[in-house]
Amino acid sequence: MKHYDQLSANFINGEWVESAGTESIAVINPATGEEFGHFIESTPEEVAQSLAAARAAQPAWGAAPLEDRITVIENFATLVEANMEELARMRTSALGAPFASSLTLSNSLDLLRMYVESVRKVEFRQVRSDSFGTAIVERRPVGVVAGIVPWNVPVRNEIKKLIPALITGNAVVLKASPQSPFVGAALVDLLTEAGVPAGVVGLVSGGAKVGEAMVTDPNTDKIAFTGSTAAGRRIAELAGPLLKRVQLELGGKSAAIVLPDADLQTVVDSMMIFGYANSGQICASLSRLILPEERHDEIVEALKERIAAFRPGDPYDSNANLGPVISSHHRDWVDQLVKDTVAAGATAETGGAPALDAGPGWFYQPTLLTGVRPGMRSFDEEIFGPVLSVIRYAGEDEAVEIANNSEYGLHGAVFGADAAEAYRVGRRIHTGTLAVNSFDVPLSAPFGGVKCSGLGRENGVEGFDEYLEYHTYKFPNEETARAVVHI
Ligand code: NAD
Repeated sequence: MKHYDQLSANFINGEWVESAGTESIAVINPATGEEFGHFIESTPEEVAQSLAAARAAQPAWGAAPLEDRITVIENFATLVEANMEELARMRTSALGAPFASSLTLSNSLDLLRMYVESVRKVEFRQVRSDSFGTAIVERRPVGVVAGIVPWNVPVRNEIKKLIPALITGNAVVLKASPQSPFVGAALVDLLTEAGVPAGVVGLVSGGAKVGEAMVTDPNTDKIAFTGSTAAGRRIAELAGPLLKRVQLELGGKSAAIVLPDADLQTVVDSMMIFGYANSGQICASLSRLILPEERHDEIVEALKERIAAFRPGDPYDSNANLGPVISSHHRDWVDQLVKDTVAAGATAETGGAPALDAGPGWFYQPTLLTGVRPGMRSFDEEIFGPVLSVIRYAGEDEAVEIANNSEYGLHGAVFGADAAEAYRVGRRIHTGTLAVNSFDVPLSAPFGGVKCSGLGRENGVEGFDEYLEYHTYKFPNEETARAVVHI
């Protein structure tokens, strides 16, 4: 695979077209603090050209048999697998994450398999009859999708926007984050090699300005966005008057409730992964841990012991198991948030400062805060750093009230000896997903948030709802309708 660390072109109508843009933006490796590439910000004209090419190419792609599109996506999966190491290297350069963790490509191959299996379950055409007559109800692609993604899970984030759109017959123009602009370019090339026709996939580069141009462009039918709640609000504000479809996967402040009889090992193992993985830079991180008074000290001690095994450092050193946060600005922000929380009365049981000895990059010490209460910054705000906040509770009602005390509602967990009891408590928490005695959810289940965590769902059969529109065609009788569509 080509090496991607310079991007001075946009992908328009199946070709890399040199940008007329003058803004060259440096991309920094967070583990070293050094530049590892540059890209040129797309101009408004280039954004418009890419979306216009998508508009022109979409009808033929949308009309192709589903099995043809599936074949292309399967070809793409083969190419991703063949180029795994190089994609992992690009992921590590963008995130500074340990190379071993990058090599999994965040289960992207499983995700691709799931799309193929799930799309075969979609009923694209039905015949419906009642006292008003008979109709063929068709599900057709919405048209042109603008896919906008953050930096936090390169490869997987891009795939989550490109593939559901393409497999259902849409054309898609992708804009990745300015902090991780190269993986998207590599994937667009692999899609082309896999057989996606010219124009059906496009790529532009830049930040909010370019994103907003995509949202308001007349050729954009739908915006598929993953990112912060603040940017999601702005996109909703722009798309609202234009009545464009918007799908928003936004931030979270997810809570894990530990019931008094929970298994210690399960809690600690799960929190080590979903509290600190990717240096806490995961939307569904379980960043608030709600502990019963009687188990508080025991669980905090066990967590401290495990946290001591984290080794932030050089992603290519096999002893390092924790990466940096994305930027120096973000590390300062995380640090201030932790310091404000401590100043408000919480205790930093571990960490609470930048990990300056971990390397030249923007490492932060894995931090465990106890004595956290509502109103403190680490309780209220999404941190996106390796910081876990512990809150005590007395009684189930208080635990549920604490978990629900958030503007977000993305994910959550309940741990308890009796799974049925944990599930009962979990159903009192207002979130899109919740894990019982574990931390994540299957790829084939719908994922997305309630409240300020977003609108719509990704993954599973339900994830395709966002990419398909219903069209109804009336027929004089059922026999004629069935003869037309052969069902
Ligand atoms: P961000 O909102 O700053 O940026 C995300 C993307 O949106 C980038 O490509 C950015 O250039 C673009 N953008 C920013 N402002 C825009 C605007 N006004 N119009 C159009 N595009 C705009 O977020 P980030 O810092 O890159 O990522 C971190 C955030 O993403 C966190 O809040 C995290 O929770 C969220 N996230 C959510 C999910 C989910 O599935 N719910 C998954 C991953 C990350």
